Amino acid sequence: MRRNGTLILCYHRIAEGVEDPFFLCVSPGNFATHLEELTRAREPSTLADISVPSRRPRVVVTFDDGYRDNLTNALPIAESKGVPITVFVTSGILGNHNGLWWDRLGTLLRSRPPHVREIDLPVGSRNVRLPLGSSGIRADLDSVRRHLLPLRVTEIERALDAVSEHWQVGSAPPPDAGTLTSEDLRRLAASGIATIGAHTVDHVRLRDRPAREQQDTIAGSKAELERSIGRVVSHFAYPFGRRDDFDDRSVDAVRSAAFDTACTTIPGTARSWTDPYRLPRRLVMDWGRLRFRVQMQRWKLG
Ligand SMILES: [Zn+2]
Repeated sequence: MRRNGTLILCYHRIAEGVEDPFFLCVSPGNFATHLEELTRAREPSTLADISVPSRRPRVVVTFDDGYRDNLTNALPIAESKGVPITVFVTSGILGNHNGLWWDRLGTLLRSRPPHVREIDLPVGSRNVRLPLGSSGIRADLDSVRRHLLPLRVTEIERALDAVSEHWQVGSAPPPDAGTLTSEDLRRLAASGIATIGAHTVDHVRLRDRPAREQQDTIAGSKAELERSIGRVVSHFAYPFGRRDDFDDRSVDAVRSAAFDTACTTIPGTARSWTDPYRLPRRLVMDWGRLRFRVQMQRWKLG
């Protein structure tokens, strides 16, 4: 354990042939390949085992956000390869057909009327006007997303509604970017191979919010998910998860809510001395076998 450490991988979606402006998708074929490569080199494990010593280096496979393809595409592959997965679910998506706001933003920007060259975002009592269309949709998405990120999710949704109305275009997320329903979540939890973890109620960037709001969205997601699946939810992942996306108040709130571990997206390998409330993870992209092998070698050294 001390020498080898535990590699914790972060996936979001298992899908192909879909709109993927934020590079969240790994194809089913590549995911199966990743699991084959992982099990050759490492012991597939869960976050519950992270502090228990092991002779072989370990790997934990996690998913963030709560996309429906975690159930329909990822689970059958994980089952066939015998690799446990942990799915961190944004609890507010259960029964919410709006899905995740960045998918709505993607729809909006893709359906921008051709004569429109700017976007007006109502941000609190101000209006923020941003230019669009000069360097492609990817740049537009990044620029708008950056302005929305610090807001409360209700404010983000209101801003997207306002743009949708102003442009007279729909903003529903693509059908293939569907999120888990309560029934889906129960099926995942009942599979025996998936562990359900929490990812806040609303996927807000925590460090921008006061302590009280952080506690509510962190503890609230635990309570909602536990109610839904009828078992204790012991693991948490910080939304976005980089060093500047959460702060010490977030870590305190996770500890007070009685979670056992919390995952970040800060790169690294978990060691026996790593703070269980700041576990590092490696983001995985849609890599084929050779590229994935190279990455595994790099992660081993990093
Ligand atoms: Zn997330």
